[in-house]
Amino acid sequence: MDTMVSIHVYAAKPANEPAIHRAMAAAFAEMSRLDSLLSSYRRDSEVAAINQNAAADNVTVSSDMDSVLRVAQWAAQISNGAFDVTLAPVLRLWGFGADSLGLPSPGKIAARLPLVNDQDLVVSSERNSPRRFVHFRRQNMAIDLGGVAKGYVVDRGIAMLVQAGFRDAMITAGGDLRAVASPLTAGRRYIWIKHPRAANSDSAQNQTGAFWGRFKLDAGAVSTSGDYERFFFKDGRRYHHIIDPHTGYPAMLAVSATVITRQAVVADALSTALFVLGPERGIALAESLREADAVIIYADGEKLKWRATQALKNKLEIFHQ
Ligand code: AMP
Ligand code: MG
Repeated sequence: MDTMVSIHVYAAKPANEPAIHRAMAAAFAEMSRLDSLLSSYRRDSEVAAINQNAAADNVTVSSDMDSVLRVAQWAAQISNGAFDVTLAPVLRLWGFGADSLGLPSPGKIAARLPLVNDQDLVVSSERNSPRRFVHFRRQNMAIDLGGVAKGYVVDRGIAMLVQAGFRDAMITAGGDLRAVASPLTAGRRYIWIKHPRAANSDSAQNQTGAFWGRFKLDAGAVSTSGDYERFFFKDGRRYHHIIDPHTGYPAMLAVSATVITRQAVVADALSTALFVLGPERGIALAESLREADAVIIYADGEKLKWRATQALKNKLEIFHQ
C-alpha cells in the first residue's frame, strides 16, 4: 500500500522476546496477505479482479473484502457521499498513486463523474450462505480502497498480536495507527499530530516544530488525512490526493483531519470523509457518532485554524495557536 508499517510490542519480561518476534512475524504476514487483496497498486489483487469483472458478473469476494466494503458503504452513507470508494475512475485521472499525472482536463473529469456513485456498488449475499458478492450497476465503474484499507490492515495486525497474548502494542501504517495498552504503557502514550505546513516534517521528527499538537491515548485507533501527503503545485495552487466525489477535484475545506475511534478501519474511512466535509460539517458528523472524536485543521487565508469535538478539545495540547 505504498507506506511504512511498524509494530511496537511492550512486555515486562525480556524472556518473552522470541514469542514477541513470532507474534510480530505473524502480524506482518497477515498484513501482507491483506495488502495483496486490498491494494490498488497490484494487478493481481482482489480489487483488480473486482474492477475487471464486477460490471459483467457477480464477483465472489473474501470476507476481508466484504468487511472493508461494509465500512466503506457505511461511511459513504453517513457522510452523504463525501467518502466514496467508487471514485477510482476519477482518481486514475489524477494518478496520485504512482507519479502524479498533472492536472486532468475538466472534460475528462466531467465525463467520469457519473461513474462515481456508491449506490451503484452492490454487495449482496445468498440466503443461508456465507458467500458475498460484489456487482457494479454500471460499465467502467471501479473501486479504490486507498482511503480505508490501511485501517483494516492495522486492525488485523493488532488482532494477531492480541491473539498471541500481547495486550500492550501499537501498529502504525502511515497516517493510521491503533494501540492497545496494559498497565505497562497506560497513561504514558502521546499521539502527535503532524503540523500540516511544517517544512519537511519527516526529517524534522524530533522538533516540536514538525508537530501541530498532541494528546494522550491508551487504547484506540487514530487516523489522519492531510493535503500534504501526496500533492503537486500548479500555478501556485496545491492539488492533492483527497478528492471531493461531488466535484472530481481535490477537497478544499480542510488541510488535515484526525479521527480517533475504536477501530482503525473506521478511523481511516472517517478521516478521509471528514477531510472532504471540512470543519463545520465534519465536526458535526463526528459529534453525532458515539465513540468518535476528531480535530480538523483548516486554512483561513494565511492562517491555520482548527475545530474539534468537545471531548477532544479537553485533551488536546496545541503547540501552534
Ligand atoms: P487517506 O489518506 O486515508 O485519506 O486516503 C486517501 C486515499 O483515498 C487517496 O489516495 C485515494 O486512494 C482515496 N480517496 C481519495 N479521495 C477519496 C474519497 N473522497 N473517498 C474515498 N476514497 C478517497
Ligand atoms: Mg482514510
